[in-house]
Amino acid sequence: MTRTSSKIIGIYLTIGVLWILISDWAFDYFGYPENPMYQTIKGIGFILISGMIFLIMLRNYEFRNDDYLARQKATADKLRLANERYTKVSKATNSIIWDWDLKKNKVLWAKNLTVLLGYDSLYNDPEWWTDRIHPEDQERVIAKVRQFLESGQRKKWSDEYRIVHADGNVRYIYDRAYLMFDKKGRPIRMIGSMEDLTERKTSGQQLEILNDQIRKRAEELAISNAELEQFAYIASHDLQEPLRMVTGFLTQLEKKYDPVLDDKGKQYIHFAVDGAVRMRKIILDLLEYSKVGKTAFHSEKIDTNELVDDIIKLNKTLLDEQNVTVRKANLPVIFGGKTLIQQVFQNLIVNAIKYRKADENPLIAIGATEDENFWQFSVSDNGIGIDPDYFEKIFVLFQRLHNKEEYSGTGIGLSICKKIVENHGGKIWVASGAQKGSVFYFTIKK
Ligand code: ADP
Repeated sequence: MTRTSSKIIGIYLTIGVLWILISDWAFDYFGYPENPMYQTIKGIGFILISGMIFLIMLRNYEFRNDDYLARQKATADKLRLANERYTKVSKATNSIIWDWDLKKNKVLWAKNLTVLLGYDSLYNDPEWWTDRIHPEDQERVIAKVRQFLESGQRKKWSDEYRIVHADGNVRYIYDRAYLMFDKKGRPIRMIGSMEDLTERKTSGQQLEILNDQIRKRAEELAISNAELEQFAYIASHDLQEPLRMVTGFLTQLEKKYDPVLDDKGKQYIHFAVDGAVRMRKIILDLLEYSKVGKTAFHSEKIDTNELVDDIIKLNKTLLDEQNVTVRKANLPVIFGGKTLIQQVFQNLIVNAIKYRKADENPLIAIGATEDENFWQFSVSDNGIGIDPDYFEKIFVLFQRLHNKEEYSGTGIGLSICKKIVENHGGKIWVASGAQKGSVFYFTIKK
């Protein structure tokens, strides 16, 4: 029997007893005769009064009950909403929410447990969880939880560990929880969320491995580059002496034996001298190349206007011979290695003349722009141009697009420019097209 119905029956009986007592007393007091009709009136009166009180109480009860039901419904709605919110949040955040009732020692898991870890034991004891922790982390995690619960002070707990997925794979988890206490301060409930860190961890690890490989590769490259430069330096330096000997004896041969040599002999000697001269040029260029960057350059203030004027003066004969026009914009004052920057301009200007069109006088324009971090120079010509397929190749050591009969050269000039520019924190590149002239750009870091 509910509390309300026993209350109603209690009141009903009390009223009944009171009615009998009061009516008996009233009949007695007013001296009504012992007439059965009065007994009927007494009975009907009892039924009417108690019925009315009963009705009023029932209405009141119904009214309160409706109110109670409405409140119950509102609470259930709120609960459903909160539940929905928490399921959605756990889905969106890739987290598994869990609720550990410490009194019953049971854990309730959100459905995400199945999605993220493949298990569907959604209600179980905490040992089920600890059994799934990776054996290497198990002891540590359990000890930490125990310590946390025993301390009875702190409210927040968190740990990072590995857990074994239902498919046997290992997942990395970041688990954090909030502890609740009863009025006496005893822990009663712990609510937490597990975040799956596996993707982040593994991509982080992969990135580290990749970074490590790149670092190693860069170190190896730096070593082999240094060795190569050292080799080029020694080779070019030491080769000069025997080469000088070869050239010297060939010249002697040419002079002394001229009368006895026939035309073929003379031609052979001429080829040999020519080869030796070219070899000397290559060796000198290579020496130049290996010297760049060997020692740190002394950075100084350079007025590139003056610097380019000097180059024009130095190459006056060549410029006059080839009918070259140079148009120079106002160039900036920069900081860098003076002879090195001069070498870049010299190489680019000489190339602009060398790779001219046969039927057009060379026209060279030199300009500059700047931004926050760099000065950018350009050297353009109206020469034979370069096919875009070779834009990268021309900056590689010894790479040439023409044979020596067409255009003389060693294929080292642009490699030297590239090395110098890169040593100044800049870049060098070309914009061109076959027969369309070329524009060489390079930047120098401010
Ligand atoms: P070299 O001129 O001694 O061959 P470089 O390294 O200076 O060596 O140039 C490499 C190649 O780039 C050249 O062989 C040539 O084919 C091409 N090149 C360089 N400058 C120009 C230019 N201004 N116009 C057309 N081609 C060029």
